[in-house]
Amino acid sequence: MFADRRRDAVALTWDLTVHQLHQAFGRCVAAPSTEALDDVMSQELARTRLAAARYAVDDIQAALSRMAHGTYGICQQCGCSVTAHGLQGSPTAQRCATCQV
Ligand SMILES: [Zn+2]
Repeated sequence: MFADRRRDAVALTWDLTVHQLHQAFGRCVAAPSTEALDDVMSQELARTRLAAARYAVDDIQAALSRMAHGTYGICQQCGCSVTAHGLQGSPTAQRCATCQV
């Protein structure tokens, strides 16, 4: 009889404690699901790839603009010619090897 009451009291206390912890910290301690983490990682990867693609397009458009204005292959910083080797390595290079550093 006494053991039953004690067991019930412990069970009730445990339930209340768990309930209070969930109420107080539920949002903080809830671990995200694997699917949620995968979704966040996929979105982050897609944003990174999109940013890289936009950067590449902007870089190519800038090179095309320099071609149209006759300044392609001329260092945008010092005005010297960018070497053919430099342009082969990076066709959209805006600066010579010396100014790249
Ligand atoms: Zn230069």
